[in-house]
Amino acid sequence: VASKEFIEIIPFGGGTTVLGGITPTKNPSLSVDMMHFKTIDLDEISHTANLGAGLRGPEIEEKLEKNGFTLGHFPQSFEFSTLGGWVATRSAGQASTKYGKIEDMVLGLRMVTPKGIIRVLPHPASSTGPGLKNLYIGSEGIFGIITSATLQVKSIPRVREYKGFFFKTFHEGIRAIRTFMQNGIAPAVVRLSDVEETAVSLALSQKKGITKEGLGSWVLQKSGFRCLLILGMEGSREEVAYESEVSRYVIKEFHGLGVGKSAGEAWKKERFRHPYLRDALLERGVMIDTLETVTSWNNLEELHRKTKEAIEKTIGKRGIRSIVMAHISHVYETGACLYFTFMAPQAKDKISQWEDVKSVATRTILESGGALSHHHGIGIDHALFFIAEHGKEGVEAVRRTKMLFDPSGILNPGKVLVKTRARKTKGN
Ligand SMILES: Cc1cc2nc3c(=O)[nH]c(=O)nc-3n(C[C@H](O)[C@H](O)[C@H](O)COP(=O)(O)OP(=O)(O)OC[C@H]3O[C@@H](n4cnc5c(N)ncnc54)[C@H](O)[C@@H]3O)c2cc1C
Repeated sequence: VASKEFIEIIPFGGGTTVLGGITPTKNPSLSVDMMHFKTIDLDEISHTANLGAGLRGPEIEEKLEKNGFTLGHFPQSFEFSTLGGWVATRSAGQASTKYGKIEDMVLGLRMVTPKGIIRVLPHPASSTGPGLKNLYIGSEGIFGIITSATLQVKSIPRVREYKGFFFKTFHEGIRAIRTFMQNGIAPAVVRLSDVEETAVSLALSQKKGITKEGLGSWVLQKSGFRCLLILGMEGSREEVAYESEVSRYVIKEFHGLGVGKSAGEAWKKERFRHPYLRDALLERGVMIDTLETVTSWNNLEELHRKTKEAIEKTIGKRGIRSIVMAHISHVYETGACLYFTFMAPQAKDKISQWEDVKSVATRTILESGGALSHHHGIGIDHALFFIAEHGKEGVEAVRRTKMLFDPSGILNPGKVLVKTRARKTKGN
């Protein structure tokens, strides 16, 4: 019916997309809420779980934990985002350095398209031609609606140990992380804040009056330790002890200083809370947004510097001062994700102000060798830049695949590919 009437179909998971992934075009549209797809089928022998697309983070973890398992996927939007949304956008959880991104966990899936149902069987591995599974993962609802997926699950780690460390410079922190990652140590959470983000985090964590923690961080900052690293180690007692020992040794080599478990535990406790602050700031006239990318170690610091400068300069053109800060997280042997946050008073033309920053920052990231996205995806906001990363042929491959599954173009038009819309085809 939707194909005949040119009604656009927009899959809706938790609605937490930050790139306009569920925004309709001007045509009539139907939002398909996945909230009823909530089945959980755990295979304790194979360590897999078949999960309904509408399950939210806490629903999955609660059920798995009761049986001694975890998915290990904790995006900051964990409370509201869904399995289907994670798979559709190739999401990354905060513990991805150990557990992988969502695409590393998906073994099989089921997707409903206007042309029929697609199934990828959940084999542990296969060599049955090209890896079609990866064509569907990250398709952001433009090929079909994912109704369920089978994912690998892990036994709950015996020990979860989160600790804080300080470095004098971002550079030394990066060198330390690269060293332990390239020597076989991959903690679950690795998060290194630059000078600006560390200062803001410490200011936000201060309680009123003079406290031991407050004095401690003041002394650290005054002594030149200005970049905070959070390491979260998870596994058996022996694994965590080994990771802890090696990383401590490496951190010392790069002049880092351990501040114990309280900083790590405080981060863990607050890790899903920060977005609430963002809403409060927006309501009070502050422009605040985030951007993320990924690049190799040899390019990371330059990309960090150039992107920050470009954002500050663009905001500064309206005579407005800003805070631009970043951290690295989601770390690999070959490189890492850089995650930027910018804040400034909103200008009178607040939409153009944001558009200018977003456009300049995205261009700078691409020109400086960063990926268009590490985990937020494409949506509407990045669609114009999709060609810059994949070239004409890449865009054409995606467009033709879409036409195959969705000849009338009714599935989530305008996302990933620009200017797509529902259209008349033979047989409509
Ligand atoms: C505060 C905040 C923090 C965030 N932190 C992270 C983070 O740490 N890591 C991260 O990866 N992302 C993060 N995000 C981005 C967002 O949460 C992810 O992109 C998430 O995967 C979206 O899931 P969702 O269920 O909310 O999907 P939605 O927002 O509902 O949809 C996202 C896209 O996927 C499509 N879609 C949704 N469900 C399906 C389905 N079943 N089948 C086909 N297509 C579907 C939609 O049409 C849309 O294009 C954050 C967002 C916010 C607001």
